Amino acid sequence: MSNDKQVHVLGLSGGKDSAALALYMRDKHPEVDLIYYFTDTGKELPEVIDFVNRLEGYVGKKIIDPYEEICTSNREKKDFDYWLKQHNNYLPSPQARWCTIQMKLVPFEKWIQRYLDDGYEVVTYVGIRSDEPYREGYQVTANKNITVRMPFREDDIDLQGVKDILQNADLFADTEEAKGNPNSSQAKGLPGYYDWRSRSGCTFCFYQRKIEWVRLRELHPEAFEEAKRYEKAAENDKGDGTFYWLGKDTPLSSLEDPDRVARIKSEHEKKRARFLKRKRINPLQVISIDVDRDFMDEMYDDQEGGGACVTCYK
Ligand code: SF4
Repeated sequence: MSNDKQVHVLGLSGGKDSAALALYMRDKHPEVDLIYYFTDTGKELPEVIDFVNRLEGYVGKKIIDPYEEICTSNREKKDFDYWLKQHNNYLPSPQARWCTIQMKLVPFEKWIQRYLDDGYEVVTYVGIRSDEPYREGYQVTANKNITVRMPFREDDIDLQGVKDILQNADLFADTEEAKGNPNSSQAKGLPGYYDWRSRSGCTFCFYQRKIEWVRLRELHPEAFEEAKRYEKAAENDKGDGTFYWLGKDTPLSSLEDPDRVARIKSEHEKKRARFLKRKRINPLQVISIDVDRDFMDEMYDDQEGGGACVTCYK
């Protein structure tokens, strides 16, 4: 399909692949006049917001938020509480992921619909790497006026290629962490959350593993307390013991028990040790932060992203 009227868009999730793609497109394909966008749910990790701001500086263009482009109602704007109420206080979960739909996909669709209504072809760029299996699902819609491009697949850029792009851009070079700790994520051009969590997204994302909830509590106690409040409200409303992000009858407050936290940490250490053994890696030659950052999904026998969709973690 070709159309004289084209608009090129690239969505950032706060994750490494879409960020590397933005850097790559700026440097290797400056002829493409891209619109970069990031759909902020209002509940993103502070490290994600910092990352997006740094990317904005590097690409030299405003990264727009589809919300701001299309929202006519202030209530709907980045308002998790509003949407929670619309869903009868049912917290989002892998089975009912209304958060991604309402807070990311719908604003995006409404935003590009304006271009489509205006007779534009929309070309959307996605950071699927050459080492990932092709999934038809990346075709965001059957609309023949929307084309999906995957430059990393086209140009044979794999995971190491993505890491190299981020390392070379060195977006965090000015931070104390990058200067003082060569093993930190920031020293490798990655946002700081990769030191303790395997994916971007909301502070209370239910795709977190127990160890990541524990770390959220340690590193962002106010965000953890907020997540607890959401659970408490759902508990009061439903009262059936099922609405806990850690599973039935397991509220987040259970992580206030030091013994339980110690058990979760110890289980994670064991998992890491088993993984290293399976991979025949000498544990004395690696740093645990690197293992968590690079292999968390593999360690937990999970697919990359742990079931989260590309919109939230890629
Ligand atoms: S990051 Fe998690 S909680 Fe946030 S919108 Fe995506 S799936 Fe939902």
